[in-house]
Amino acid sequence: MPELERLHQQPSGSIPPFRVDVKVHDLLKKAPSKPFVPPPPSPQPLTLPEPVFPQRPELLGDDGSEIPRPRPGESPYRRRWTPPLIYHTMRGWLFPYIKSRVLPGDFHPIIAYLFTEWKCNLDCHYCWAFDNRVKGMTEDTARRSIDWLHSTTCRVLALMGGEPLLRPQFVHKVVYYAAKKGFWVYLPTNARLLRPEVIDRIGDAGVATVNFAVDAVDEKPGLPKALNPVRKYFDYLIKKQYKYGYTVFFNINICRTNLEDVKQLTEIAHDNGIATDYHINESPMIEQPHFKHLDENSTYITREDWPRVDALLDWLIEKNKSGYKMVNSVRRLNDMKAFLRGRVEPWNCRAGMNSLIIRVDGTLAPCFPMYSASYDWGVVGAHKFETSQLQEMKKSCQTHCFSTLNHNLGYCYDDGRVIRWVLKQALRGFQGVSGSFYD
Ligand code: SF4
Repeated sequence: MPELERLHQQPSGSIPPFRVDVKVHDLLKKAPSKPFVPPPPSPQPLTLPEPVFPQRPELLGDDGSEIPRPRPGESPYRRRWTPPLIYHTMRGWLFPYIKSRVLPGDFHPIIAYLFTEWKCNLDCHYCWAFDNRVKGMTEDTARRSIDWLHSTTCRVLALMGGEPLLRPQFVHKVVYYAAKKGFWVYLPTNARLLRPEVIDRIGDAGVATVNFAVDAVDEKPGLPKALNPVRKYFDYLIKKQYKYGYTVFFNINICRTNLEDVKQLTEIAHDNGIATDYHINESPMIEQPHFKHLDENSTYITREDWPRVDALLDWLIEKNKSGYKMVNSVRRLNDMKAFLRGRVEPWNCRAGMNSLIIRVDGTLAPCFPMYSASYDWGVVGAHKFETSQLQEMKKSCQTHCFSTLNHNLGYCYDDGRVIRWVLKQALRGFQGVSGSFYD
């Protein structure tokens, strides 16, 4: 019986500390193949260049203009995609894909997650992805990471945490340096520190998209990522996207306690012409000893909640079909119902080959669920990803994993789908350039 199904058959409050098979868990957590060490510091630690700011002074601040609203009958998602913006997106995603298809070997990253922080200013009760004892990434590691990735096929850099904006100046430097090197830069944030000055800095530096993580309209017990406390920042972010050229989307985690909020946030996103990306709440895939809320967690979906969650997913599917812009396809939303019930079919995971994570200390892992693994996959500048090891591991973890990015990447890693998508976007005048990739 799949671990997740077992999870829901246990008395409420009793959650297994990990979900992959014991053998794979032992390999990942207990038996490093080599001593696990961060990369040695450079003899002369590198720094990131001081960003020139503002590069476009005419865009700074609030000029009093209104957020462009669609005219009656016009799509709320309509915006001007200029040739430089289209080229920037193709350089980030399409060209690396093509290179990865023609170059020999298996390690050709398209997207890398750079964990600049492992601390957070909030405590969402489902989230194990922070530990406030861990120091953030150094400039030396950030610079070496970006330089190394630049020497590969990779041109999408996703900052990660924790909360990256705990150090806004550091993030400004990373975005500026990476964008100057041609990366398509993605910034996720809980937005508590996304002040207008910070928005101007990251917009001016060239951020490509902002993942605005929010789970509720007003704060709820265990769910502090709420929109109303940061509504002013949200409005400013939306307004300035048309000036700087970045996009924004809501990242929403579907939990036991926010089902009505998910609907409200979906409508707010639609009214503001931005996409949504949904996740289904899940317990850690591998053991996270620092995680405080494994037991008695009010956000975890139980068997009794399945009908309510199914109804919400059906509502989202209808919205998706009616034209609401979502990162998740109808098929993926339907798959969430199966995932809840512990059913995930093997899929084409590309982690460790076309995607990877770089931890705050510069060590590497294939994916976010493996952040706390002690297996040695190498360090920045010297990866040790081996296809045979990854394939063996994925025989177990794929059937427990609902990673949105890696599922999308695995699905899209197909020449026929890529060609069809590019043709579809071209026919639409690239109006849906950041939309779903699914057929
Ligand atoms: S299936 Fe892929 S993304 Fe998911 S845990 Fe395994 S390696 Fe990571």
